Amino acid sequence: MAIIEAKKKFGQNFLKDTTVLNKIIQSMSKNKLKLVEIGPGLGDLTRLLLKVRPLRAYEVDRDLCVHLRDKFHIEIEDKKLDLIQGDVLESFDKGSLEEEPYEMVANLPYYVATKIILKALEDDLCKSMLVMIQKEVAQKFCATVKTKEFSSLSILSQSIADVELLFDVPPDSFEPAPKVTSSVLKIVKKREFIQGKDALFENIRDFNGFKKYLRISYSSPRKTWIKNISSIYDKTNAKTLLEKYDIAANARPHELSVTSHLNLYKEISK
Ligand code: SAM
Repeated sequence: MAIIEAKKKFGQNFLKDTTVLNKIIQSMSKNKLKLVEIGPGLGDLTRLLLKVRPLRAYEVDRDLCVHLRDKFHIEIEDKKLDLIQGDVLESFDKGSLEEEPYEMVANLPYYVATKIILKALEDDLCKSMLVMIQKEVAQKFCATVKTKEFSSLSILSQSIADVELLFDVPPDSFEPAPKVTSSVLKIVKKREFIQGKDALFENIRDFNGFKKYLRISYSSPRKTWIKNISSIYDKTNAKTLLEKYDIAANARPHELSVTSHLNLYKEISK
């Protein structure tokens, strides 16, 4: 097999550190859900995942797919590995990545990691994620209220899932080494997003409304929430709502908890 050069445009940093690879496997949920890997790359993590459960993997790079089909021809013949060549975002646009509930495990390409996680949050069949991403971004997903990292990403993810940063991974664990430190993030959904009787949002329109509400709430993060939100919604109504929920009139968006944002959105959008 010819030497495969990492392609920058696909965010290829291959994880070579066996200690980290094993730590990822040990951190997986103990459920029996189907497994989905995004970006199997050279297949080092894939090899370990296949020891746990059958797997569906999405890889955008044609050359890597040729390599993977050769490396895992037995697993593919035995239907333990279902390798899909293509951009995973396009697959999300067509619906879920699986036909049944699944757990996602991936060393995600940095350039598209946030988008993939947001899509998986919206995919009700995705029940949990164990993903390696850039540390600064991981910190945003699991930030707590009143810290400067507490952003729309924190609120969106924590409104439906428990989010935990498990451990950091230094650049020299990869080939080629990236410029930044990575972190492994665990996201376990506590409820459904859009489908199901206990779902957080009534329908996709309701969820899109919440995303818009967050965009406006954070339009100027240093300004007060009321100043931001009044650019679209009625100021007097917003003021009454803050009083109702016992929130200070001068609170900034990052000072409002996940529950406060959900309550305010539900009321303000009536
Ligand atoms: N899993 C391997 C590992 O741990 O060494 C590779 C991880 S590398 C950071 C990211 C992988 O995602 C690469 O194999 C890359 O080709 C693939 N990839 C990048 N963009 C993708 C996309 N939009 N859809 C599917 N795979 C993608």
